[in-house]
Amino acid sequence: MVVLDPGHNGGNAAHPSIINAPVPDGRGGTKACNTTGTATNAGYPEHAFTWDVALRTRARLEAAGVRVVLTRPDDVGVGPCVDVRGRSGGRVGAAAFVGIHGDGAAASGRGFHVITSSPPLAGTAMATASSALARAVRDAMTAVEPVSNYLGSDGLDQRSDLAGLNLSTVPAIYIECGNMRNATDAAWMSSAAGRDAAAARLAAGILRFLGR
Ligand code: ZN
Repeated sequence: MVVLDPGHNGGNAAHPSIINAPVPDGRGGTKACNTTGTATNAGYPEHAFTWDVALRTRARLEAAGVRVVLTRPDDVGVGPCVDVRGRSGGRVGAAAFVGIHGDGAAASGRGFHVITSSPPLAGTAMATASSALARAVRDAMTAVEPVSNYLGSDGLDQRSDLAGLNLSTVPAIYIECGNMRNATDAAWMSSAAGRDAAAARLAAGILRFLGR
């Protein structure tokens, strides 16, 4: 079983009191329950991108015989908060947790990057497994999108501040599939064909990690 976590949600912007509420960040502090996410300059929102890519990825994983749990049921609701998302992999006994996002960086930045939690909170073995998951997805994604030219190293980045990764007790990554503020990335991220190609590679990377 795999948990796919489509970042943000369509109703978040209309419910600031809910999504701005503090929740545990996994390192003894707090952060906001959730955020609205970014958008392309033309207004295609990140929450719609992540939802569509998650559905397309789920379809491919299920076709390969992998059970998939999504952290939200639709693209019109609010939340769930990042701590709930982060704990979801352990709650359902998943083999992997994959958070799907699109970045909102400076327009010159292009490419995808995969993020793991560091320093690791879930133990050395889990950190090693998360790194293996990150590399498998990175290797698969390079077939359709270059690695980030503005963040991380060779498509891999590590962060301490992401509750969704910090609180996971199963191998966990976030993937920023592209930069929605970059014209080249925005073009494919706004296209169904582009999202389908990305989902195919994302699924391939997850399947590789699962040894299938
Ligand atoms: Zn995001």
